[in-house]
Amino acid sequence: MDPLLQNGTSDPESRRLALLGATGSVGTQTLEVVRLFPDRFDVRVLTCHQNVERLADQVQEFRPACVVVGSVERAEAFERMLPADAPDVRVLVGPEGLCEAATRSDVDVVLGAVVGFAGLRPVLRAVEAGKQVALANKETLVVGGALVAQALEAGDGRLLPVDSEHSAIFQCLAGESERSVEDLVLTASGGPFWDRPAETFGEITVEEALDHPNWSMGAKITIDSATMMNKGLEVIEAKWLFDVPVDRIQVLVHPQSIVHSMVSFADGAVKAQLGVPDMKVPIQYALSYPARWPAPHERLDWDELSRLDFERPDLDKFPCLQLAYDALEAGGTAPAILNAANEAAVGCFLDEQMGFRDIPRAVERVLERLPVQADPTLEDLVAADTEARRRVEELPLPASN
Ligand code: NDP
Ligand code: MG
Repeated sequence: MDPLLQNGTSDPESRRLALLGATGSVGTQTLEVVRLFPDRFDVRVLTCHQNVERLADQVQEFRPACVVVGSVERAEAFERMLPADAPDVRVLVGPEGLCEAATRSDVDVVLGAVVGFAGLRPVLRAVEAGKQVALANKETLVVGGALVAQALEAGDGRLLPVDSEHSAIFQCLAGESERSVEDLVLTASGGPFWDRPAETFGEITVEEALDHPNWSMGAKITIDSATMMNKGLEVIEAKWLFDVPVDRIQVLVHPQSIVHSMVSFADGAVKAQLGVPDMKVPIQYALSYPARWPAPHERLDWDELSRLDFERPDLDKFPCLQLAYDALEAGGTAPAILNAANEAAVGCFLDEQMGFRDIPRAVERVLERLPVQADPTLEDLVAADTEARRRVEELPLPASN
């Protein structure tokens, strides 16, 4: 239904893959999918930020032509780690290296699994270069959705969702016309605290917040799930992927994480996509689309599955979700400010310099204080991101409730 996903429908025999964020949760699960289909992938690029130990192991196994690491110092450590008889690999560094690697002529498919704002520029460059981009990095669309949409319209690039909810919606929309779609319904696990009394939120520890009930993910998105900012970011991601107005994007808490999302249609019908919570399924679909490749991923067990619960989210208890709706409504640089303030606040929480409830407080204060600029360029977004992070660092927040 949307222009973003529709540039071309080819199904190449072998995908020449650049995997950005290879050492992370989505990155390593992508390589598990690649292991299942060795003839269908040629891994050309692998990247990490710091974890050159894991990257070196991946290089030995997948033999890419190029890697990217976060700094010159890490690049030197990476090279020391390779055995003398290791195959030649080009080593690039930093944000420029990521952009160069994502636009190489020997790459067809880019899987964007860097975490945070750092993922925006290489994904944008890849789309501009006409690549097929399988996108996990939701912050790219939260911050730069308008720029990505423009690049998709102007060129041959193509975007496929990896995030499980958006993959579910994408699958529900198959064969449907835009006119018949009523609402998108994003499901949310609710994270570890959806039924915890709000009065006790001030006591939440980092360890408790990192203990997600259904999904095993990187630290940043796990904290975002606990605050429900993750769902807020996903509402913004859905707006850009599917071009649906914000008042037609609903969120439902569904603690079992079996229904990955739903679409309701003009005739009252609702389509849902179900499955065991396993990121390898949406990762594989984004890489195999339009085909489905037979794979041994865990199946739903109908004898075990006794009930599916749904309830409306409590926006007073989880203010991050409302903040995200408001930022989307405000438009311009507001989602970039929301995202940057959130990334900075989550970093502070993980470092135990901020309490759990300070995360939405910090985001709200920074959003209140920074002016919103309409129609931002990439440079404007970078400036808004930098300024929002600086404001969080300056906030006089106590490391308590
Ligand atoms: P992780 O933290 O597990 O992995 C992040 C990856 O990005 C690592 O390879 C990391 O390298 C690299 N990285 C971190 N910072 C930078 C930087 N500044 N520049 C370049 N590379 C960097 O994250 P996840 O895999 O959990 O998430 C990745 C993205 O996918 C996020 O945007 C998340 O919201 C999204 N997503 C994740 C899901 C999941 O199940 N994990 C589900 C749906 C979406 P290093 O290892 O060296 O630090
Ligand atoms: Mg998700």
